[in-house]
Amino acid sequence: MKFLSYWHDTAPAFAGAAQGPVEGRFDVAVIGGGFTGLGAALQLAKAGAKVVVLEAEKVGWGASGRNGGHLNNGLAHSYLAAKVELGRERAIALYKALDDSIDTLEALIAEEGIDCNFRRAGKLKLASKPQHFDAIARNFEAVHAEVDPDTALLSAYDLKQEVGAPFFGAMLSKKSAVMHMGRYVVGLAEAAQRHGAMIFEQAAVTEHRQAGRRHHLKTPRGGVTADAVLVATGAYTPSIFGYFRRRIIAVGSFIIATRPLAEAEIAATMPGNRTCVTSMNIGNYFRLSPDNRLIFGGRARFSATSDQRSDAKSGAILQASLAEIFPQLANVEIDYCWGGLVDMTKDRFPRAGYHDGVWYAMGYSGHGAQLSTHLGMIMADAILDRSDRNPLKGLEWPAVPGHFGKPWFLPFVGMYYKMLDRIQ
Ligand SMILES: Cc1cc2nc3c(=O)[nH]c(=O)nc-3n(C[C@H](O)[C@H](O)[C@H](O)COP(=O)(O)OP(=O)(O)OC[C@H]3O[C@@H](n4cnc5c(N)ncnc54)[C@H](O)[C@@H]3O)c2cc1C
Repeated sequence: MKFLSYWHDTAPAFAGAAQGPVEGRFDVAVIGGGFTGLGAALQLAKAGAKVVVLEAEKVGWGASGRNGGHLNNGLAHSYLAAKVELGRERAIALYKALDDSIDTLEALIAEEGIDCNFRRAGKLKLASKPQHFDAIARNFEAVHAEVDPDTALLSAYDLKQEVGAPFFGAMLSKKSAVMHMGRYVVGLAEAAQRHGAMIFEQAAVTEHRQAGRRHHLKTPRGGVTADAVLVATGAYTPSIFGYFRRRIIAVGSFIIATRPLAEAEIAATMPGNRTCVTSMNIGNYFRLSPDNRLIFGGRARFSATSDQRSDAKSGAILQASLAEIFPQLANVEIDYCWGGLVDMTKDRFPRAGYHDGVWYAMGYSGHGAQLSTHLGMIMADAILDRSDRNPLKGLEWPAVPGHFGKPWFLPFVGMYYKMLDRIQ
């Protein structure tokens, strides 16, 4: 088994990183080379701005190269709950932004010729318990009537054609998609570079200072100045940006990938070939890879650490969950096991805007694989003062009480959700 992201292992390396010292004077400096940063850089470069991306490791090293690869349209959480928490207008705007983000990806991939197996697979939200189906059905009725007619409610009987496991029904969101996340992120970086963005890898920003209108950013390889800065560091946000660290909770999420499945195994487990998410609080998400591996993820443990030891521990828990859902695959070989950090916010809604001189977009809470490119582009337009399409503008973002960057409270949150899963 490789303790490595399947996406990282099966994508070409990005060959366009700038060489030599980090230096220069730019219109915009983007910190972080994931989907958010690269989406913004592409948009900025296309508009003729002089833009630099500073990435601490390699492009796609963070969550963008480690995720489950579910490009789900609409809100990941209950639309009914979002209306209560955000108000109807913003809940609809956010729902539509997530829909639009899949269209953005589809168009961008076609325009830039990115070879990444993009496919509108459709997403199934699977009811793990009978009472969960009731809640899914209530949410479906509102979604279907108010924001997304491209949805369907499937009974347990209908579901037999989709998934070879005993769930109690599901909501199908037809516009959701999948792609090869590693090939996409490298293709996105190549596109940004082709349009003129300068991308430095191994260039961690260690200092940020603003003097008048100019920002000064330092890395171990030199420094740059810029008129505007976009912080796109998600769950990996460094301590120099304390404001965001007090608002982003970095939570581990973990994934295993099986060996490629045979046709008969797919027919018995994932005949519908869609993205699947279970309805438990500590649930699982799974899909097939382009070469027919089952990519099976979940929170597994409430840990803020993703290294080989932590990933292996979580991988063992995931293997047991996989066997529980698909006993037919109980003994299947696991070829990959990896983890990454998810940029959670307390209310699980993302945030994007301008604070204390810097622009930001983050807090996707496990559902940014599609929204991050789109929101990066929206923030690029805001920086350029071209258009104001930010669906999160003005949304309050209080700090998490008692949180200064290291989420000491995660084990307690884990216990709480375990208890909820037992009683709900
Ligand atoms: C295991 C896992 C599974 C997931 N599954 C899904 C899914 O199926 N569907 C979905 O929608 N979302 C999923 N997500 C979430 C999704 O991947 C993220 O929301 C999205 O990738 C965020 O992109 P980003 O560019 O904002 O952040 P990232 O991709 O994390 O990029 C941030 C970058 O900033 C860099 N950085 C940090 N500090 C510095 C510094 N000081 N200087 C320079 N660079 C720095 C990091 O190296 C990193 O590359 C998952 C996440 C994880 C971890």
